[in-house]
Amino acid sequence: MSKAELENNEEIQIFREYLRIPSVHPNVDYTPCVEFLKRQAASLDLPVEIVYPVNEKNPVVLIKWEGKQPNLPAIILNSHMDVVPVFPEKWTHDPFSADLDDEGRIYARGTQDTKEIGTQYLGAIRVLKAKGFQPKRTVYVSFVPDEEVGGYLGMREFVHTDHFKNMNLGFSMDEGSSSLDDGYYVYYAERTAWHLRFKISGTAGHGSILLPNTAGEKFNFIVNKMMEFRSSQVKMLARDSSLFFGDVTTVNMTIVNGGVQNNVVPAMLEVVFDLRIAIDVDLDGLEKQIRDWCEEAGGGIELVFEQKDEYVPPTKVDETNPFWLAFEKATKELNLEIRPHVCPGGTDSRFIRSKGIPALGFSPINNTPILLHDHDEYIRADSYLHGIEVYTKVIAAIADV
Ligand code: ZN
Repeated sequence: MSKAELENNEEIQIFREYLRIPSVHPNVDYTPCVEFLKRQAASLDLPVEIVYPVNEKNPVVLIKWEGKQPNLPAIILNSHMDVVPVFPEKWTHDPFSADLDDEGRIYARGTQDTKEIGTQYLGAIRVLKAKGFQPKRTVYVSFVPDEEVGGYLGMREFVHTDHFKNMNLGFSMDEGSSSLDDGYYVYYAERTAWHLRFKISGTAGHGSILLPNTAGEKFNFIVNKMMEFRSSQVKMLARDSSLFFGDVTTVNMTIVNGGVQNNVVPAMLEVVFDLRIAIDVDLDGLEKQIRDWCEEAGGGIELVFEQKDEYVPPTKVDETNPFWLAFEKATKELNLEIRPHVCPGGTDSRFIRSKGIPALGFSPINNTPILLHDHDEYIRADSYLHGIEVYTKVIAAIADV
């Protein structure tokens, strides 16, 4: 398609309008997103409901396409409305003007994460409705707030509401990521996130004395153990080319603080580690190992879990999951090369899976650099339109299971 054709394409116009809403952290104003989505629902002749799981500043928008058998468990197609901050000086285009360049690339924050899938779902429903298709199962298209900062005001809480329960969901789709080649990633699980603060106390005193049992010695012991653990994972990933980023545990030191004065041995030093634990790791065993290290270091270490996600079982990607089979068949018919993996990052899918609902993370973007959260985030317009074709097939298949 020429640039002029793309500019006049209705789907591209809708997408670019959504991208121009600066629903950017911090303190996101979702009002324009809600207004935009209400208009989209009206143009599709579908009812829309706005719910507020936590507070009035954080709406969840639900567009409902009722199925022929509304008593069957429904499908949810989720995306988040919020986007991460930008450093405009690092961009070659205004991050909220959704410029279309001569190569057919659309530049804006949210083009890969996740405004694209939100309006692609709607584009696919437009195609299906025009064909006279009515799904067997009810399909909800949901647009949630707050995903980029943990979902505390969005999906994390929404899944605990009666509203969510009454939707009677049987299967979910949400964001994935682009791939650099012809293939497509589909994520069926996420690692378990722990944010661990070690509050290390020790003998305080004058900086001129070799005091016993100091916080510094214990700090050194703990940091070494955690870094050895980290190295083991780096080696594991390097050794086995069949492993994906999401298959190993990541261990990263993120915050260090403590000390009062240059010549005073401090009573307390603190260090925080961000861990994303591989799905095959025994969590109780790992916690015991870390607690044993604290004792070996000399004791006096308080372990504070600032985040301690529970283990969430993966979604089955085999013949026991009829939704997976429908997804696989639909993507095969489109000749897409699908690669199931554990998602390296965290998405709202984990909250849905924690309720026992199977969930896949999938963004139909290939041959595109992974630019989510990066400068000059873009998507190719033809890739965007192809994604609508993919969802047209996929939504019809999973809604008819
Ligand atoms: Zn995202």
